This record gives sequence, C-alpha cells and structure tokens, in this order.
Amino acid sequence: MFGRLVAALRDDRAVVHECRHCGTTVEPSTVGCPACESGDIARYEL
Ligand SMILES: [Zn+2]
Repeated sequence: MFGRLVAALRDDRAVVHECRHCGTTVEPSTVGCPACESGDIARYEL
C-alpha cells in the first residue's frame, strides 16, 4: 500500500483516493471501488 502511495506522489498527484473497505487505490473520478464495489472512497490530501 505504501508503494502505491509513493507511486501516486511521483505521478504528481496531491490527492489520493482509496477504498475504505479494501484499500484499493482508485481514480479521482471513481465513485465506487472497482474491486469490491464499495461506494465508500477515502480521499487523502497530501
Ligand atoms: Zn474496495
């Protein structure tokens, strides 16, 4: 998970969106998790 966070930072993204249910990193425009279909997406501003 930390590796994904670093990758997101290297991609010049200031905001990380991650599923609260399974921890999958999703695109900012995603309204639901593609992995578990949860609609509970956490948004982290870095
Ligand atoms: Zn999920």
